[in-house]
Amino acid sequence: MLTGQEYKDSLKDGRKVYFAGRQIEDFATEPALGVPMQVAADGYDKHYSAEPGAVNPLIDGPRSPEELRDKIPVLMEMDLLLNVTYQSLMTLLVAAPRIEGVAPQFVERIHAYVADAKARDIRITECITDSKGNRSKHPADQDDPDSYVRVVDRGPDGVVIRGAKMHISAAALGHDLMVMPTKNMKPGEEDWAICAAVPVNAPGVHITNTTYHPYGRDERDHPTSARESVPDSMCIFDDVFVPNERIFLDGQAAQAAVFAHSLGLWERLGGTAFMVEQADELVGLAQLIAEANGTAKISHIREKIDEMMIHATLLRAGLEAALLHAHETPDGYFYPDDMYTNVTKFQGAAQFSKMVRHLHEIAGGAVLTAPSMSDFDNETLRPYLEKYMSTGDGVSGEYRTKLFHAIRDTTADAYGGWHHVTNIQSGGGLFAQRLVTRRHYDMTRAKSLALKAAGLAGD
Ligand SMILES: Cc1cc2nc3c(=O)[nH]c(=O)nc-3n(C[C@H](O)[C@H](O)[C@H](O)COP(=O)(O)OP(=O)(O)OC[C@H]3O[C@@H](n4cnc5c(N)ncnc54)[C@H](O)[C@@H]3O)c2cc1C
Repeated sequence: MLTGQEYKDSLKDGRKVYFAGRQIEDFATEPALGVPMQVAADGYDKHYSAEPGAVNPLIDGPRSPEELRDKIPVLMEMDLLLNVTYQSLMTLLVAAPRIEGVAPQFVERIHAYVADAKARDIRITECITDSKGNRSKHPADQDDPDSYVRVVDRGPDGVVIRGAKMHISAAALGHDLMVMPTKNMKPGEEDWAICAAVPVNAPGVHITNTTYHPYGRDERDHPTSARESVPDSMCIFDDVFVPNERIFLDGQAAQAAVFAHSLGLWERLGGTAFMVEQADELVGLAQLIAEANGTAKISHIREKIDEMMIHATLLRAGLEAALLHAHETPDGYFYPDDMYTNVTKFQGAAQFSKMVRHLHEIAGGAVLTAPSMSDFDNETLRPYLEKYMSTGDGVSGEYRTKLFHAIRDTTADAYGGWHHVTNIQSGGGLFAQRLVTRRHYDMTRAKSLALKAAGLAGD
């Protein structure tokens, strides 16, 4: 296994990573990348074992419904990079038996890659979303055939790929990019049916970074984003050679969506579990700020908090149902139920803005205008700030101001905006969850109940 320092050293491998238009040689000198790198390094140190042959126990696939359930708090504790590594490896393991019938040659490679990735203790990011060009056209019909990542050359030792994957979380901080087709391909679209693990430092790979990390600002005003922001990337593949042993699908158009479906499941499980925590956190913030403002017993405030509690509890129930109805792969791994995972993710995302609206209405305008914590450091200002930000009854000005900063940082500022969009789009937009729900919902039963209600059951 790698220590945190070994992980940081491993990133100095000639990779082409850019931030604000500049190529970055050393992440440590760039706070927007250095801070999330340190978080990932801390994750390495946390799970490090010097035992020869040790592997990170967190990335073992669940072998029973109980192990799947036990994974949830573990997922919540993981840094994002380890989380997406886990999801990438689980995606391969769930996909392997699904492609075995048509492409058995890839299954052995998948298992060898997973074992090697665990042994080398590398981090892997999920590269599904293509640039996609005109959304209403298929890959082969695009003006630019590179709108979806594709194979442009095949040789005895491997393939050459070209294209770009968009919005990839933490791509610059990992070791491998797990490239997978974003959707099903039609006959004739074999070149776009490519799944492969590409090293971040492979010649031809370029990675941009966008971040909502509050670099250069007072971290006390950004209590969550200063710890949790991770850059998202565009990963450009400019004729990148991929050797055979790293290719897990090549040309099987009908199987192209298998990987995206498997990943969607793990991604949405993580997303759903996070939303459950987030919903409870919003309730907590609403209650604390209502208490600090002296409004906790006012009826319309209580009603809003009640509604937030009902929302959070329903999400938790959906997550429980997804775990309770877990399914087993032919290889004996357990994964959460598709429909319950998707409907819960949908509901959490669709109602998030409304819950934030309740929180903002309860909290008041200081969500945006509370003085900076550095103002509290000023000897002249501090007594005024304490006096006017306090609401009496032992609620200090500093305490209440910190609550406002937490609310702004997580729901109303750059990182809060990131959450609004990410909750909707990550793991596919709301439309993707509608599709999965429609595929799995028991419509026959619903129709028979309706026919019975209409007195038409015999017809
Ligand atoms: C912060 C963040 C992190 C992300 N991390 C990752 C990551 O690590 N890896 C990864 O692979 N992806 C990642 N994503 C990408 C995410 O999965 C996509 O944003 C999502 O799938 C939507 O794709 P898009 O952004 O290209 O939007 P578009 O495809 O342009 O979609 C916009 C809207 O149009 C609708 N739409 C588009 N095409 C069609 C169509 N043909 N028919 C019907 N409706 C359509 C969609 O439903 C959506 O509502 C991330 C996204 C965000 C915001």
